[in-house]
Amino acid sequence: MVNPKVHALLNQQINKEFYSAYLYLDFSNYFKAKSLDGFANWYMVQAQEERDHAMLFYTYLQNENMTVTLEAIDKPDKTFECDMDVLKAGLEHEIYVTSLINDIYAAAYEGRDFRTMQFLDWFVKEQGEEETNANDLISKMELFGSDPRSLYLLNQELAARVYTAPSLVL
Ligand code: MG
Repeated sequence: MVNPKVHALLNQQINKEFYSAYLYLDFSNYFKAKSLDGFANWYMVQAQEERDHAMLFYTYLQNENMTVTLEAIDKPDKTFECDMDVLKAGLEHEIYVTSLINDIYAAAYEGRDFRTMQFLDWFVKEQGEEETNANDLISKMELFGSDPRSLYLLNQELAARVYTAPSLVL
């Protein structure tokens, strides 16, 4: 029997991950409109990964015979003054998602729900990578963003990112 608090947080995380996908789709849209197709691609791949995260929580709940309740997804409502603002909003969002994963982990630990803790281990590691990726992007933009030729090359580098399915399979 899964702790009701853990169940509620796992169910909520489906929504949070779909919101992340929606947010990054909006970022992709922002860069597409500015003809920075490489940046648009990078966030499109990010959006696909977030959809996968949502589906992992969804499948985990179903596998454990826990009810899945799908809620409305919030509208991405951020506005940006410059490209760097988008990148920084991405890092800020990942730090927030890390805090959500940590909250579920803490509730699972408290409820001696070791199976959920094991499931979440993948996400704990994943969040470390997400924060690193977001930080790296900011660093590159700080170094190269102000020079048009360097920005062109960075945009090309980001165009090469390809989607791969998550290493966690349920
Ligand atoms: Mg995620």
